[in-house]
Amino acid sequence: MSNVFPIGSFASLKTPFYHYDLPLLSQTLSAIHTAIAPHHNFQVHYAIKANANPVILQTIARSGLGADCVSGGEIEAALYAGFPAEKIVFAGVGKADWEIELALRAGIACFNVESLPELEVINACALAMGRVANVAFRVNPNVDAHTHAKITTGLNENKFGIAMEDLLPAIRRAAEMQGVRYVGMHFHIGSQILELDVFDRLSERINQLQDELEAAGIHTSSINVGGGLGIDYAEPDAHPIPAFADYFGRFAHHLRLRAGQQLHFELGRSVVAQCGTLISRALYVKHGHTKDFLIIDAGFTELIRPAMYGSSHAIQNLTAAVGSAEAVYDVVGPICESSDVFGKDVTLAEAHRGDLIALRSAGAYGEVMASTYNCRRLPQSHFTFADK
Ligand SMILES: *Cc1c(COP(=O)(O)O)cnc(C)c1O
Repeated sequence: MSNVFPIGSFASLKTPFYHYDLPLLSQTLSAIHTAIAPHHNFQVHYAIKANANPVILQTIARSGLGADCVSGGEIEAALYAGFPAEKIVFAGVGKADWEIELALRAGIACFNVESLPELEVINACALAMGRVANVAFRVNPNVDAHTHAKITTGLNENKFGIAMEDLLPAIRRAAEMQGVRYVGMHFHIGSQILELDVFDRLSERINQLQDELEAAGIHTSSINVGGGLGIDYAEPDAHPIPAFADYFGRFAHHLRLRAGQQLHFELGRSVVAQCGTLISRALYVKHGHTKDFLIIDAGFTELIRPAMYGSSHAIQNLTAAVGSAEAVYDVVGPICESSDVFGKDVTLAEAHRGDLIALRSAGAYGEVMASTYNCRRLPQSHFTFADK
């Protein structure tokens, strides 16, 4: 495997830490802008929850993307990083009153509303503040994302959004309110989606809904299809940048946008996953009776995806010379939980105490989910700024 890391500069750093390849992030952002350039009505909002590191946020804001937030704290982080309020959308099933007020005060573009009780509260807050909130309804299109059960969100029985048959009554209810303005429909069917025809199904479902709304005389100015584009966890060096042109092309081909309609996207993982790596050190190699364990100084406190979703990250020994002997390990962390396992029967260059061990594709849902469980310290972050 090629080693793209500035390991010389890692020698003095306290592990575990996150390393971000900012040139790769910039190339990824350029690829997104190139892919949407032919579609003048497409707008991409970066889903802050994937990675809220300030340097990452500022880089993304500067490139011109909008932001997708799921909490008041994320709205504050987005504004602080330089995302303009008029490019911020706000989703989430449990928006607290203070978060709604914060969003109204900032003047965000749109609330993605997930229930009728929430609509009532947004209306009341807006009226009290003398504002009108743009609202889009999050609809469950009942499209199977063919991804992990814990990250499937578009099926009917789900805490997110409202059922398709409840959309028309919700829009009618909104029309009776003075504090909200219906602007559109919002969808988000899951994450780490690699079978792109799932998005064809979603587009077809949206077409049906649009026909029904039009027949009822309702004008919709914006459609938001959420995020979910997956990345290659197995071979990050082969596919450092996701196939954005294919992804956006699916919607361009299958979704019948009406004149003047805006199509919004909320991409998280596909923007930041590949530019981030969790760097740890080998603490011990423990020879068991049936297998060998490589115990590293990173655990699920730094990267929880394997423990939480059963997902895997490519693991590399950065210290070993190219072509050195390989060995098979269960790669585990130091946390006192059996779920603190990064990979079973992983083949990598034979490891010794002190070797730098990289967990690749960790830029999304990595650092941002870090915890202090076991009284551990939160990981630091380091950056490659210029091209290597
Ligand atoms: C998490 C989330 C996203 C981003 O999903 P990715 O799979 O990281 O692209 C977008 N929209 C909403 C509403 C989300 O909850």
